Amino acid sequence: MKITYHSTRNSELTASASEAILKGIAPDGGLYVPDQIPKLKLSFEKLARMDYAHVAYEVMKLFFTDFTEEELMYCIKGAYNTEKFDTEDITTLVDADGAYYLELFHGSTIAFKDMALSILPYLMTTSAKKCGSKEEIVILTATSGDTGKAALAGFADVPGTSIVVFYPKSGVSRVQEKQMVTQKGKNVNVIGIKGNFDDAQTAVKNIFTDPELAERMKAAGYRFSSANSINIGRLIPQVAYYVYAYTRLCPQKINFVVPTGNFGNILAAYYACKMGIPVNKLICASNRNKVLFDFFETGVYDRNREFYLTPSPSMDILISSNLERLVAEIAGDKTAELMQQLKTEGKYEITAEMKEKLGLFVGGYAEDAEMAEAISSLYNKEGYIIDTHTAVASAVYNKYRKETGDNTCTVIASTASPYKFTRAVLNAIDSKYDSKEDFELFDDLNKLSNVAIPKAIKDIISAPVLHDRVCEKDGLMAEVERIYLNK
Ligand SMILES: *Cc1c(COP(=O)(O)O)cnc(C)c1O
Repeated sequence: MKITYHSTRNSELTASASEAILKGIAPDGGLYVPDQIPKLKLSFEKLARMDYAHVAYEVMKLFFTDFTEEELMYCIKGAYNTEKFDTEDITTLVDADGAYYLELFHGSTIAFKDMALSILPYLMTTSAKKCGSKEEIVILTATSGDTGKAALAGFADVPGTSIVVFYPKSGVSRVQEKQMVTQKGKNVNVIGIKGNFDDAQTAVKNIFTDPELAERMKAAGYRFSSANSINIGRLIPQVAYYVYAYTRLCPQKINFVVPTGNFGNILAAYYACKMGIPVNKLICASNRNKVLFDFFETGVYDRNREFYLTPSPSMDILISSNLERLVAEIAGDKTAELMQQLKTEGKYEITAEMKEKLGLFVGGYAEDAEMAEAISSLYNKEGYIIDTHTAVASAVYNKYRKETGDNTCTVIASTASPYKFTRAVLNAIDSKYDSKEDFELFDDLNKLSNVAIPKAIKDIISAPVLHDRVCEKDGLMAEVERIYLNK
């Protein structure tokens, strides 16, 4: 069965999988969605006996139907191996305090973004070949902290590509920033912006869909694509680990709890469910920036509110791009109109009928103090230390379990290594760490957690800063012109 993709805002704007991956975003500013979600072909028993790479193949081949087996296997083998991941399993399930933590941070930049960004460069360059594209691919990326480094690591020195990462200068952790600004590679650019993630993402989307700029780039031998989760080549690889996790725990029904920002990770869980994984609830966990919680409660998405910087910076987002893909399923032809309202008024409301179709989802949120309490109580009970994002999910799950009494087997997506947020994590356990900096605390975390300091951390401790450029929040286009068009 061949799957084609179309824009969420216009079902007539279609693309094959490789075209959608190469373009990143549809020409009308919509996101590419598959015309249907394929069902898994193999039985759970068979999948349960496969390793990660083979489960990933069974999932991805159903979505990327214009790739040959050889092409897709080349991409998968290049990505999911023990050179790039520090565990043979690629992802690990840890049983702690009545839930399973699905550790998705064993890749080279110690955040779950590696699960997709280790394969995206392979998918992208293979797609370019398949589409006969001759231009150099310019990856433009807005990051809330983790995508940036994972994309830089994935695309550094990949022939035929170059990459520009924009990150909120005052909105990421010290470790996140150091990881990015020390990135080596002839084709990489890292720029801080005086604004937040939403400013960066909106500017990047506008650059992508500017036809006049695309023409000038083309004349100079370039084309844009995206490494953000708006790219279907990011989203589909993420479906694989939900299928993988389920097949390690089956046959019971399952809840997934996902710490959410841009709504990519939880949308992948939803796709896994539609492929046939028996899901009871998808629990969408937000921090203080609880725009998604309010949406699931009321049916109103409203970004007109105060923006908070929290200890879980990768979730400090008010415009969750991938929600558009879910909205497209329940709103159909109305999607373009709703997204226009979001753009002009900063809000939209779905109808009661549409809201009824969202019954699988439960929204929850945790304040910073509840997040910290989740870290310390899990540490005190089990000696297991989770990062600040995972802790938001953990706190939300504990509240949910208390309120509902739901005892369904539950998997919590563990999205980053605690080493990425060392100070905030240790501070939650004991305030004596308060006066120290991330970079002074790696040994303390090592002692408390009995988890070795990851290579990603050792690599950056004494690495020289290679990128120090900062721009205004309306200056992203000028930066791109400066780099590629010699302006
Ligand atoms: C990106 C990120 C998230 C949010 O994931 P989305 O797909 O944007 O919802 C959560 N935790 C960490 C550590 C992240 O890097």
